[in-house]
Amino acid sequence: MEDVVIAGAGPNGLMLACELALAGIRPLVLERLPEPTTENRANGLVGQVVRLLDRRGLHERLAGPIAPPVPGFVFGALRLDLTLVDRNSLTVLGVPQRRIAAMLEERATELGVEIRRGHELTALTQDTDAVTLDVTGPDGPYRLQTRYHVGADGGRSVTRKLAGIGFPGVTEDRTVSHSANVTVPAEFTDPASGGLRVPGHGVIPPFFHYRTGTGLFAYAPFPTGTLVTAMEWTDDEEAEDEPPMTLDDQRASIRRVLGFDLPLGEPEGDGPHLLRRLRGRNTRLAEKFREGRVLLVGDAAHVHSAIGGPGLNLGLQDAVALGWKLAATLHGWAPDGLLDTYESERRPVAERVVMHTQAQSALISPGGDVTALRELFGELLRLPSAVQHIADLMSGADVRYEPGTDHPLDGRWAPDLVLADGTRLAELTTTARPLLLDFTGSLGDERHGWRDRVDLVSGHTNGDADGDATALLIRPDGYVAWASSSARPDDTERKALHAALERWFGRPLDA
Ligand SMILES: Cc1cc2nc3c(=O)[nH]c(=O)nc-3n(C[C@H](O)[C@H](O)[C@H](O)COP(=O)(O)OP(=O)(O)OC[C@H]3O[C@@H](n4cnc5c(N)ncnc54)[C@H](O)[C@@H]3O)c2cc1C
Repeated sequence: MEDVVIAGAGPNGLMLACELALAGIRPLVLERLPEPTTENRANGLVGQVVRLLDRRGLHERLAGPIAPPVPGFVFGALRLDLTLVDRNSLTVLGVPQRRIAAMLEERATELGVEIRRGHELTALTQDTDAVTLDVTGPDGPYRLQTRYHVGADGGRSVTRKLAGIGFPGVTEDRTVSHSANVTVPAEFTDPASGGLRVPGHGVIPPFFHYRTGTGLFAYAPFPTGTLVTAMEWTDDEEAEDEPPMTLDDQRASIRRVLGFDLPLGEPEGDGPHLLRRLRGRNTRLAEKFREGRVLLVGDAAHVHSAIGGPGLNLGLQDAVALGWKLAATLHGWAPDGLLDTYESERRPVAERVVMHTQAQSALISPGGDVTALRELFGELLRLPSAVQHIADLMSGADVRYEPGTDHPLDGRWAPDLVLADGTRLAELTTTARPLLLDFTGSLGDERHGWRDRVDLVSGHTNGDADGDATALLIRPDGYVAWASSSARPDDTERKALHAALERWFGRPLDA
C-alpha cells in the first residue's frame, strides 16, 4: 500500500511531492503525459510564493538570490504605484512555468520521489482505510492502493470528478484572447521605457494591460522572447473545428483591439514559441477540498482568470499547506482535525483570489460605465492605503490564519528575519521542519516535549525584526503559530506557546 499517490506532475503536484518527501513521506506521482509539456502558461510568479520558493532554497535554483519587491504592478489594467507604500509585499519572479515545473521535478527526483510518466488515473474508489486507484500505464491497466490520494490533476481534474466533488462557478464566454511570441520592428519600440510605440496610442508600457474600447492589449518583452496578447470582447462562438491559430490571426486580433496594423515578425530563437487562442474564462471553486482520503490542490480545487498572475501563488501555497499536515497525519502525530485545517485555511484564500480576479475582469470590461468606474478606481489608487490594500491582496500578505493569541504576527507569514550573524530565516527553513526561533535564550526547555518534531534555533536578530519579535514558532508552511515580543516571555506567554505547540504539532513526547 502506498502512503500518498498524487495525480498530476504539474507544478502543484510536484511541489506537494517535494514537501512530503522533506517530511519523510515518499509519495508516488502519476502523470498521464509521457513527457513534460512544452505548453507554457505562467510567465512568472507573483506574491508570497516567491518568498516561499526562497524559503526552500528553490528560488536560488531558478534565478539566484531573491530580488526586492517590484516598484510597480498592474491591477485590472490600472497602474499600481508601489513606491507609495511603506510595506511593499509584491515580489515577482519572471520565470516561465515550464522551467518552474522542470526545477520542481528535478528536486522531487533528488528527494527520492517516484514519478511515473505516461500513467493516467482512470478510476477511484475509497473506503474508511484506503483509496483504490485504477491506472493505465504504458504496459496497460493496473490497480494501486494508497492511504491518501491527492488530485493535482488540473482544472479538469479527474480526481475531483471521480470523488464526486462538485465544481460550481461561472463560465464566461464573451472573450477570445490571442497570444504569440513575435518580433516587433525596432522603430515601434521605445528604448527609454521598454514599451511599444503605437500610432494613436502613444507608448504602451511593457508588461502592462492596455484597455481600449474593443479589448485589451499587452506587450511583454521577456528576456526569453517577446510576447504579445490581444484579448477581444466577442459574440463569436467557438467553431467546432476551429483551425489552429496563426500569426495572421494574432495580427488581425491586434488590429481589432488597437485599430492599427502592427507589423509582427516570426519569433527568434529555438522556441518552443507560443501561438495560443483562449476562449472564455472559468471561475470555479471545488465544493470541498477533501472527501475522506481524497484531497485536491491547485487548479483541481480552483480555477479563475489568469489576470495578475495569481494562480501559482495560490496553488503552490496550497501544496505547502497540505504537505506537512498530510505527513503529520501519516506519521501519527497530527493533532485531531489537523488535516481539516487544510481546507479551513486555504478556502478563504482561494475565495479572495476568485474575488480579485473577477473584480479585475470587471475593470477591463468594455463600456462607458466601466470607463467611469476605472476613473474613480484610478483616483483611489493614488491613495497609499488603497495601493497597500491591493498589493497585500495580490501578494497574499494579508492572509492571516486563525491566531491563537493577539500577537500581531500570530497567524501571519513569518517576516524575513535576519540573524545577527547574517543568517536569513530562509536559510533555516529549507528542511520544511517546524521551527522555534528564540532570541530570548530562555525557551529551549519549552520545546523539550516536541524536540523530535520542532527544531530550535537560538541567537540574536539583526534588529530589523518585523513587530519586534523576540521569539517565533513557525510552521513548515511559513506561517507563525506563536510569537513574543518580550525580552523574557512570562508564564502566560509560555502557556500560549505550549498551547500552540500542541495545537499544531500534537501531544508532547512525555505526555
Ligand atoms: C494562459 C494562462 C496564463 C497563466 N499565467 C499565470 C501566471 O503568469 N502566473 C501564475 O502564477 N499562474 C498563471 N496561470 C495559472 C497556472 O498556469 C495554473 O494555476 C497552474 O498550471 C496550475 O498547476 P497545477 O499543477 O494545479 O495543474 P496543471 O498545471 O494543469 O497540471 C496538472 C497535471 O495533471 C496531469 N493530469 C491530468 N489528468 C491526469 C490523470 N487522470 N492522471 C494523471 N495525470 C493527470 C496533467 O497532464 C498535468 O500535467 C496561467 C494559466 C493560464 C491558462
